[in-house]
Amino acid sequence: MMLVYNQEELVRFVEEAKQYARYGKVADYIPALGKADPNELSIAIYTPDGRVVDAGDVTVKVTLQSISKIIALALVLIDRGEDEVFHKVGMEPTDYPFHSIAKLEEKPAKPLNPMINAGALVVTSMIQGSSVSERLERLLAFVRRLAGNECISYSDEVARSEFETAFLNRSLCYFLKQHRIIDEDVEELMELYTKQCAIEMTCIDLARIGLVLALDGRDPHSSEPLMPLDVARICKTFMVTCGMYNSSGEFAIKVGIPAKSGVSGGILAAVPGRCGIGVFGPALDDKGNSLTGVKLLERLSKTYSLSIF
Ligand code: GLU
Repeated sequence: MMLVYNQEELVRFVEEAKQYARYGKVADYIPALGKADPNELSIAIYTPDGRVVDAGDVTVKVTLQSISKIIALALVLIDRGEDEVFHKVGMEPTDYPFHSIAKLEEKPAKPLNPMINAGALVVTSMIQGSSVSERLERLLAFVRRLAGNECISYSDEVARSEFETAFLNRSLCYFLKQHRIIDEDVEELMELYTKQCAIEMTCIDLARIGLVLALDGRDPHSSEPLMPLDVARICKTFMVTCGMYNSSGEFAIKVGIPAKSGVSGGILAAVPGRCGIGVFGPALDDKGNSLTGVKLLERLSKTYSLSIF
């Protein structure tokens, strides 16, 4: 069944959700992200018939941050296959924060899943190519195909800002290197990872990537497979079990849509067979999820019965 989303209703939901912005806080551990306006909130819904319904300022660009983890995972699964990837990174959710180092101190040091930073760093280290720039270009080319937008690139300012301050992520890399889970140069990996996290796009681009996942990896216009069905299935499963940090369980109950968030305030969501959703609201809750974005998705899910459960 094709859903028809009502634009005026969407504008009203955005205004309602914005009221919660004052309870959230913009991420500032990456200094460049601290400049975001906590009252910003935008959303785009992309349906398989090619229609986009949006509300808020959808021209604003958002850096992917942790949302990039799901895209890098898809690329690496295509490049190397499940066995090689899951030999190095697990499949289990965690109630530790996304940047926690604690589990790496226990044996085996293999990161619990690819959505926490330790696991994402392992995934990024598996992106193929002969140099950082070639690997980044491969990732960008994949992102552009998924979003159907050749203009997508990364924010040099945000990448630099994170690179200069990513002491915790460097520590995770050294733990991983000590345990031979990665073997590349840490500074090179940090350069690739911070540029990956700084890839920027609008909510409409995010929604279109969500729609590709919702359509089991197929291009919404040409139906061409952009990733194998199994890869799309694995990505959506991780989005349900670990996509919303250590509140993925609560999000599954209250919203029930496969989704991945990032500390920039972006959320990429995929409602299987029905639509892709992109949200941007930089006021975050204490777990790192967009507070206003989650409220908005909760409202949307209830109104249009979007929960997959
Ligand atoms: N680049 C961020 C970091 O590694 C991403 C974190 C996130 O969005 O959860 O700290």
